[in-house]
Amino acid sequence: MTKQHDIDVLIVGAGPSGSTLAADLLRRGLRVRLVDKAPHAFKGSRAKGLQPRTQEVFEDLGVLGEAFAEGGPYPLAGFHLGPITIPWRMQKQSKVMPAVPYPNILLIAQHRTDAILHRLLVRLGLRIEFDTALVSFEQDAYGVTATLSSGETVTSRYLIGADGGSSTIRKAAGIRFVGETDNSDRTLIIDGTIDELSRNRWHMWPRTYGKSVGACPLPNSNQFQVMIRLNADESSDLDEAAMADQFKTLTGYHLHDITWTSVFRPNVRLVENYRVGGVFLIGDAAHVHTPAGAQGLNTGVQDAYNLGWKLGQVIAGAPDCLLDSYQAERQPIAARVLGKSSELYSGLDKHRLSSLKRGDEERQLLISYYAGPLAHIDTPATKTLKAGDRAPDATCTGSDGVQRLFDVLQGPHFTLLAFGTNASLALSELTWPTSGAQLRSYSVVTGNQADENCLHDTTGKLASIYGISCDTLVLIRPDGYIGSIITTDWLTAFDNIAKMITPPLTSTAHMV
Ligand SMILES: Cc1cc2nc3c(=O)[nH]c(=O)nc-3n(C[C@H](O)[C@H](O)[C@H](O)COP(=O)(O)OP(=O)(O)OC[C@H]3O[C@@H](n4cnc5c(N)ncnc54)[C@H](O)[C@@H]3O)c2cc1C
Repeated sequence: MTKQHDIDVLIVGAGPSGSTLAADLLRRGLRVRLVDKAPHAFKGSRAKGLQPRTQEVFEDLGVLGEAFAEGGPYPLAGFHLGPITIPWRMQKQSKVMPAVPYPNILLIAQHRTDAILHRLLVRLGLRIEFDTALVSFEQDAYGVTATLSSGETVTSRYLIGADGGSSTIRKAAGIRFVGETDNSDRTLIIDGTIDELSRNRWHMWPRTYGKSVGACPLPNSNQFQVMIRLNADESSDLDEAAMADQFKTLTGYHLHDITWTSVFRPNVRLVENYRVGGVFLIGDAAHVHTPAGAQGLNTGVQDAYNLGWKLGQVIAGAPDCLLDSYQAERQPIAARVLGKSSELYSGLDKHRLSSLKRGDEERQLLISYYAGPLAHIDTPATKTLKAGDRAPDATCTGSDGVQRLFDVLQGPHFTLLAFGTNASLALSELTWPTSGAQLRSYSVVTGNQADENCLHDTTGKLASIYGISCDTLVLIRPDGYIGSIITTDWLTAFDNIAKMITPPLTSTAHMV
């Protein structure tokens, strides 16, 4: 028995996590509403580091150009030690490689990132419903009925709590948020203008009157994000004149035209469950940690990206257990992020320079879902990749101006690459359902065959980055991770993975 719902998915919270999910679901043709209790989009600079993996997600969504236009590279840190300023490189600058097109973190204020996603939603035909809170909800076997602050009730198949660290949905669902909050450790965060302070450094005063103070220039503006770590017994005075006075005393510089302030407490918490029935948590609603390492926004965007295609597939008829893989894949990642950001933050507390260094882990390119429910350890691997790993980019050419593999992956579809004659011949025997996300398949060839289903790998880069040593099929998920590597028994192996992630085959199923 089925029930008619008003919409497929109700998303609560138009921060980066909820907005990314809304965009991904809309491009899958789903009926979505996005509500936010705030009267307008968030105004502060909060999360200002867009990690390489998130840049890849933004490229897939078609908004990376806007992020590059509004952001900028991380400047060197500048340590003010008495009268001298010592430059220090926090982020190793990595070279662009064919496999990693965006290797470096991008500095961009969160209100700009939110605005970029919100403009995308407008282009996709969605109006964010601001000034609209989720008040309560109930669910049964068929879906969720939510009550909004307007008094309206909305029925949906799924409800998404993207409602931030103090999530109403998490609390109403009775999901435990396990961890700790240190109320004695507070940092004042201020967006404002500072006279005569150079904009080519992330300024740090590591020990000024016993406090740590930082001022990071925000690209394409005259503002800095200022951070003042408060002493345990100090009251957090948010009066602007008092903040400016305090900043002048601590640094000697004049802070003015303050547009946003906040007091940040390092919460380190992770939910026990990412899902209860038809209710899912993403982003800060599911995990919060210190800002050290610039991971929060990025982890939320990637939660959304992991969940989006799974919701699309299950709504189209794929097995419900595909949705359980969301928690199985994302919770261990969040647990590692919590550990890493706490480690960096406690190092900052001890004024360790090493805790200002950012490396591969923070870039989030090494995240893998290997050994999870969709990528069993006994599946074949290539010389460089296992199922569950990030699908790297590579140079290759194809029809419609394709120059890189990421051109081919861009969009809500699955991609199947066939390396070698036997794998290419097998393509014609494989079937894929007509409902749910499309599958696009390509034979990877070294010559110049003029076939729109061929990718030309004349330099051998694609095969080498993918570590191909024999005839191989590589299935790539819509979120850019390897779904399966098949080297033999093409039909059975392909059907085994397909039946976990697609609706059942019907008589209208077609050859790939
Ligand atoms: C000082 C500071 C610095 C940070 N720096 C970084 C950084 O450098 N890099 C990084 O990656 N992360 C950083 N973070 C974390 C980052 O800001 C968050 O992880 C990110 O905003 C989470 O996005 P989200 O969409 O999950 O939640 P949020 O951005 O919190 O959005 C939640 C939304 O839900 C809405 N909402 C809440 N309850 C309801 C309700 N009942 N009904 C309707 N709407 C509701 C809210 O109005 C809000 O718009 C920082 C955070 C802080 C505080």
